[in-house]
Amino acid sequence: MPLLLTILGARPQFIKASALTRAIEKKVDLGWSQSIIHTGQHYDAKLSDIFFEELNLPKPNFTLQLKSSERAVRMNEMKSGITHAIEECKPDAVLVYGDTDSTLAGAQAADALGIPIIHVEAGLRSFDLDMPEEVNRIATDKLSSILIAPTTTAIDNLNNEGIYGAFLTGDIMHDNALYFTKEMQEIKSKSILLTMHRPSNVDDLPRLQSWIDAVGDWCLLHQVDATFPVHPRTKKSLVALYGGVWSHVLSEKNIRAIDPVGYIELLRFIKTSSLVITDSGGIQKEAYSCETPSVVIRRHTEWVELVNAGHTVLCFEPKALNECADSQFGRTIDGDDALYGNGDAADDILRILSETLT
Ligand code: UDP
Repeated sequence: MPLLLTILGARPQFIKASALTRAIEKKVDLGWSQSIIHTGQHYDAKLSDIFFEELNLPKPNFTLQLKSSERAVRMNEMKSGITHAIEECKPDAVLVYGDTDSTLAGAQAADALGIPIIHVEAGLRSFDLDMPEEVNRIATDKLSSILIAPTTTAIDNLNNEGIYGAFLTGDIMHDNALYFTKEMQEIKSKSILLTMHRPSNVDDLPRLQSWIDAVGDWCLLHQVDATFPVHPRTKKSLVALYGGVWSHVLSEKNIRAIDPVGYIELLRFIKTSSLVITDSGGIQKEAYSCETPSVVIRRHTEWVELVNAGHTVLCFEPKALNECADSQFGRTIDGDDALYGNGDAADDILRILSETLT
């Protein structure tokens, strides 16, 4: 029975893993089994445990306890822990998702041991090397043996770097968003969803304040409420900016700050909102999957199809938010253009693995 060792570490990866795990369980005839290693990159209950419970993910077979908060040291801790796990379970391949430090650590550990690497979400590029995720993506693609690309743009990006032979499957996050929202009501409220956690937006306090002011002014002007699940990194900066009364300051601007929520609740917020304002890679796509327009508060996106189709607009300067939000608020999105497949990317991935690895 072929064995995959799946490397997980961060919130979006737990979500991504759920689609392939369902496919493995559904297609028992293909004979795949899976071991999971949790690197401990996201370890608190609101960013980790809740996803394992909600998404029915098997308990990790290996869990690392990272000790350092320094990135380079953590990378080494992850690589060493993953190396031990590979030596113990002797997988036929190591599977990594996306673009986090856990992704790259997994690829580097597997590469050093000569184990085939499968990269799901290969070929995405924002062309912004200031984002650590971009560096992780490029390095992981170069080390991987089986590249699973979600879009033709991703295939073109790989070809432009001299990397050929990637497989096109559609996007597993789209699989999940469709799967978990099937039964949800369609009705949109007047409210909007706000999320931000990218260092470029939240570590720079004056910039974070400008975003809060811009979103707050827009909400007050239009008498709209924003729900804002606050990432721990963002909370730290909000406390530094406004002190202990930070959530009260936001509420005066019609921004309702809440703790990070589970995946199903987050999808429900997206589905019932008239607009999503976000700097998240995953949430901009989930907005499309839930037929909700979005404003992405970044200079670039790796999901360029969303911008080309008008489902998303990019907004890099807080002063442009008013215009961007006006242009997207309440816009109708037609999710039938299948930008990211039809919800069966995970089945395709499993078929590809069976044809190439067994
Ligand atoms: N998410 C969630 N609860 C929240 C915020 C986000 O479940 O309070 C989910 C969201 O639906 C998406 C994923 O986490 O699938 C995105 O993670 P994040 O924004 O941390 O990372 P990125 O996608 O930017 O890498």
